[in-house]
Amino acid sequence: MKSKKSESKYKTLNKGHLLIMSGPSGAGKGTVVCELLCRMPEIKLSVSATTRKPRNGEVDGVSYFFITEEEFLKMIKDGEFLEYDRHFENYYGTPIKYVYENLEQGKDVLLEIDIAGAKQVKEKYPEAKLFFIDAPSIDELKRRLVCRNSESQNQLNERLLRVEEEIKCRQIYDYVVINDTVDNAVNKIIQIIKEMRINDNKTAD
Ligand code: 5GP
Repeated sequence: MKSKKSESKYKTLNKGHLLIMSGPSGAGKGTVVCELLCRMPEIKLSVSATTRKPRNGEVDGVSYFFITEEEFLKMIKDGEFLEYDRHFENYYGTPIKYVYENLEQGKDVLLEIDIAGAKQVKEKYPEAKLFFIDAPSIDELKRRLVCRNSESQNQLNERLLRVEEEIKCRQIYDYVVINDTVDNAVNKIIQIIKEMRINDNKTAD
């Protein structure tokens, strides 16, 4: 699903890097992103909007902007999303304003979104860098999902079915990072981001 109005409103994308982290549920991308932001606090995390109900410990405006379906549909209509997707009966979307304001100020912005959303962003802005965070094996992925124990059986089954589909999408990504340990995964991402910044400086010379 695409938000058409948004493209014309924010054309001048330059300076900062748009970093997209996605991958199958259970690959541990949330933990990797959290550690990455601790170690590179200058990166701006985009907070998504969702119609899903908050889980225990989630905070409005920090974990997500928890909004109603009516509010979400209005934001789509008003072109306020860079991308959005509907899955597990809920909408998820990236508010465009925060992303572009920061990129235009030269700041790197990170999105933690699903694969469908990552594809939409890459189509609109090929310069976005897509990271696929994967578990060391599919069995490990399934084990982590089951251990997480945060979903109903139906939701869990739906997520498990989705995992193999998501893994097939790997080839659209710029980088595949295996989350064998959080430290290894974060070190690899940091190295890639540092290289991107060095290359920017070379291009500017
Ligand atoms: P959860 O319900 O576990 O928080 O998230 C479910 C899925 O939605 C995850 O794969 C997460 O990365 C994805 N997601 C979170 N925010 C967004 C968003 O703004 N856009 C899209 N397309 N996916 C999102």
